[in-house]
Formats: sequence, C-alpha cells, structure tokens
Amino acid sequence: MPELPEVEWVVRGLNRVLPGSEIRSVTIHCPRLLRPTLPETLRRALVGARIQSVNRRGKYLIFHLSSARGDKPLEICAHLGMTGRMDVVPTERALPKHAVVTLDLGPRRFVFEDARKFGWFTLDTEPLSCLGPEPLSDAFSPEALSASLDGSRQPIKSFLLDQARVAGVGNIYASEALFRAGIHPERAAATVSAAEAVRLNHAIRAVLQEAIAAAEARDSGTRFYYGGSGGSAGEASSRFRVYDRDAEPCPTCGESIERIVQAGRSSFFCPACQPSRPLRKRR
Ligand SMILES: [Zn+2]
Repeated sequence: MPELPEVEWVVRGLNRVLPGSEIRSVTIHCPRLLRPTLPETLRRALVGARIQSVNRRGKYLIFHLSSARGDKPLEICAHLGMTGRMDVVPTERALPKHAVVTLDLGPRRFVFEDARKFGWFTLDTEPLSCLGPEPLSDAFSPEALSASLDGSRQPIKSFLLDQARVAGVGNIYASEALFRAGIHPERAAATVSAAEAVRLNHAIRAVLQEAIAAAEARDSGTRFYYGGSGGSAGEASSRFRVYDRDAEPCPTCGESIERIVQAGRSSFFCPACQPSRPLRKRR
C-alpha cells in the first residue's frame, strides 16, 4: 500500500512532466472513484484547463490547475488507495485494464489506474481540511507532538495512524518510528514523556526522509509511478528494521521481534528495546 514516501515519489515524478500540460479531453472509466463529483462536472471543469503543479498533503495528491477561461483556479484531490498508480504515457499506448480516469494531454496521456478501486480522483477537497500537521514540515515540532499526545486517550500506534494527529504516517512507518524511539506500540499516547516525544518526532521524520531518499535512488528518472512490477517491494522491505520481521532477531539487541494486532493492523516491535511499562510522565 502506498504510504507518504511513495506518494511523495509519485508527486515529484508527475511534477517533472505535467506542469504546463493542457487537458484536451477526459475519459472516465470508473465514475465511483470521482464521488461526490459527478463525471460530467469533472469533464466540464477539466477540458481546456492547464495543469500547473502537483502537491502532496499527507497521502493525498493535489493537482493545481488553471481553468480554460482563466478565472478561478481548480484543484483535484486524489488518493492512491491500496493499489492506485499514476503514469504519463504516449497516447498510442493501450490503456491498462483497471484505468479509472485518463486525461488526454495531446501527445501524452495521464492515466490513473486502480485495481482494487479504493483510490479517489475528485474535485472535493474537504478531506484535506481534517488533516493534522505534515510530518516533514516545521509545524510538526516535538513540542506540538508532545502537546497533542497529552490530549489523547489512544494507544500510541493508533495515535500515529490517526490522520488528524499527524498526516500521512501509515502502518509501516508507525512501527519503524516507534522502534527507533524505543516506545511500545500499546503504550497509551498520554504516557509518552516530553523526552520520548522528541525522540519520536525525530524518528518519524527520519524514517520518512530515508524512505523518500531510497525511492528517489531507485528511480531511473523515467519510471515514477508507484507499484510497478519487479522487486521494489523486496528492496523496500530490506530497509525495515522491525516491520514484517516477526520472529527475526532485533537489529539492535538480537531479541526476537514480535507481532501483535492493533485495531485490525499488524504492529511489529522488539520487546526488549520497546518496554511495555509506561515510564512516568515527565513534564
Ligand atoms: Zn531490541
């Protein structure tokens, strides 16, 4: 499933080829993923519009466009869901089986495909208003994190997955960050001390930045979509210290890594490096 680093990789790739492109026509293959925008509304808004840039907010992609009439700017809010891919290909290339929306850009075509159909491509930007701070921005400071932890009754792992608390951290990087910070995933968020919040803040930023750098390093410059065939999943998993390493030795202490299920999602941790007993909260 694409997480923040993979979405960032897609955004950077799209920004190399899309800005300045005019949309000649729009073909909608799966109207359900446009909701609540109606297919005809999307088509009318986009035909003749020009793509200015693509941004990321959490795991959402935001396409900024200038409209055909040069009046109000437009935004498309998109999400890759579990299996979404975005690509810009020569117009003559055959469409993928699971195409959702295609934008005809003249000699090239933008294709959003999604086999499992959990993604989005819509004019509705409302979901963005509910997102917490961007983890790689200055707004995500150790102090802000500590204050937010104080007000939470969630286990720390669930807190990190709550997009209103911090935007874009998913299951993989939550486990990795908690391991690096030495915090057990079942600890109550409010028991995380100010000193631990500093470690956690740094750990979240580090795991995300390293994953973005790794994705960029793999990228040959032409292949920027997420979820291509080949060994990218294997390469990625070799970077993880605890995620998906159930019963393997901890890279720090050699203790066996454990897996538990929290809110239906797997958490991986080292019982020695991440003790379950909360330390007394220090302020
Ligand atoms: Zn350990």
